[in-house]
Amino acid sequence: MFEEGSDNAAMAAAPDAFSPPPVLWRDERDARHYQFWTRVYAYALYAALGSAVLGLMPPWLLVPVVPLVYFRMALALHELLHARPSSQLPRFHQLTMIFESPMCLGYREHRAIHFAHHRFASTDRDPERYQIEGGPLRAFGAALISPECGFVRWVREHGMSRSLAVDAGIRCAAFIALVAVNPRVFFVYWVALRLSVGCSSFVFHHVLHNDDGRLGTFRLPAPDVVVRMARALFGAEPMLILTEHERHHQWPRVRAGDLPLLPAPPR
Ligand SMILES: [Zn+2]
Ligand SMILES: [Zn+2]
Repeated sequence: MFEEGSDNAAMAAAPDAFSPPPVLWRDERDARHYQFWTRVYAYALYAALGSAVLGLMPPWLLVPVVPLVYFRMALALHELLHARPSSQLPRFHQLTMIFESPMCLGYREHRAIHFAHHRFASTDRDPERYQIEGGPLRAFGAALISPECGFVRWVREHGMSRSLAVDAGIRCAAFIALVAVNPRVFFVYWVALRLSVGCSSFVFHHVLHNDDGRLGTFRLPAPDVVVRMARALFGAEPMLILTEHERHHQWPRVRAGDLPLLPAPPR
């Protein structure tokens, strides 16, 4: 059966002469902070979908609301993945249920995949390589179907454990129930969510790890004005995971907010 990896698995990056002081590492306080905010963002998605189903807000409002909440949640969830294993989280977080697909993975699997991405970034053993390689269009297509691809690839490699079968069954049942309650409204929510998942996964993988066909880990190739706009929409601190992605890969234990304090990573 798959065993949840320790944080050290992700830290096995290239040997590095510089070692950031432990005061810069994520701690209990950071873990509590991201645990709280990921829950708030998930509740915000539920509230938006529920309000549209109940007729309290027009369904089209889901189109701007879902990406705004999802991108913030994805960045906070990424920090939480580095700060706390699934076994130390409430059931709510373990399920990681935002209804992106009738078959999708939970926190434990996402964490293991992300740690393997850190360990083998952009190589043949990187489980996210299928979203990194190739041209932008191919990679964007792969990012759009990443919930299903991630699920199928995980089951092929690790099999279907009892706990994954139970959790995936709960997520699937919730998905089907929501489709049944109001197919039209759920469709609007689902399209907005899947585009958000696709864009986020495309930036996280292809944009940051493929420089015109050369695979590696690179700085965010976005003009300052775009970064400033993204900071205004999604928050300054979460955006550091993107703008400082090279430093994040080199020193994954360091909290996002402290990455700019570190020296430039070796090239
Ligand atoms: Zn990366
Ligand atoms: Zn990471």
